[in-house]
Amino acid sequence: MIVPDSHPRRQSLLLRERVAAGVKSGFTSSVGLIAHGRGEAFDYLLGEETTPVAEAACRAAAAQLLLAERPVLSVNGNVAALVPEEYVALGKAIPAPIEVNLFYRTPERMRFMEAQMRSHGCENLLCNEDARIGVDSERGKVDARGQAVADVILVPLEDGDRTEALKRAGKFVVTIDLNPLSRTARKADITIVDNIVRCVPLMTRFVGDLRDRDDLEEITRSFDNKQNLRDSLQVMKARLDDTHSVD
Ligand code: ATP
Ligand code: MG
Repeated sequence: MIVPDSHPRRQSLLLRERVAAGVKSGFTSSVGLIAHGRGEAFDYLLGEETTPVAEAACRAAAAQLLLAERPVLSVNGNVAALVPEEYVALGKAIPAPIEVNLFYRTPERMRFMEAQMRSHGCENLLCNEDARIGVDSERGKVDARGQAVADVILVPLEDGDRTEALKRAGKFVVTIDLNPLSRTARKADITIVDNIVRCVPLMTRFVGDLRDRDDLEEITRSFDNKQNLRDSLQVMKARLDDTHSVD
């Protein structure tokens, strides 16, 4: 599809196209399109920009990933469609391995995911399914070198069941989720309420800038996720309260 430069929803349409292309290539599930649409709705309420509230969460996330002994970045079909290069860059900057984590896991889709991530420069990719977290079926499978032994895990656009299982397993969970009311957003230790296409490059910048261990510890100590979620909801509420926006 050709989107004219002048189209007022150009950026949003291009992102939609990227997810649709992921479905066509076989690594994004068709259900991923529905999750994307849900994200779009919340992004509209956010004003489609990184708020200062999201920026603070992003900084805390970068600090926590730098402090981790065994950080792991989880990648699913939507993430691989939207920010493959940017995600690989984040993994290299920390440094942390990237683990393929599919909600609708089949051997074929795993192969397509591997090809997608490797074609965008991913060298440290984990794809085994030789360990489990406490969720039944295919969704509980993880890599014994990755999420199974990680202390801090970034799981963007994640489902609530898996987030709860990771928490039960004692992991520190960082997520990116445009819906501040989702189970994942509420169960995670750090929730960045922002579009993944905006906040992954920002997180990589923070990772590059933050190095002093005392600073990192202070940033994570002073971060309050519940308050940050309330603040994100407040941003959305203010937009909804502005009834003149339809004039
Ligand atoms: P939960 O299972 O946590 O209660 P859910 O069932 O509503 O949430 P899922 O499909 O399991 O939703 O998870 C996907 C989440 O990712 C959704 O909350 C959606 O709003 C969010 N999301 C979708 N696209 C993006 C994006 N581009 N950036 C950030 N978040 C996104
Ligand atoms: Mg869900």
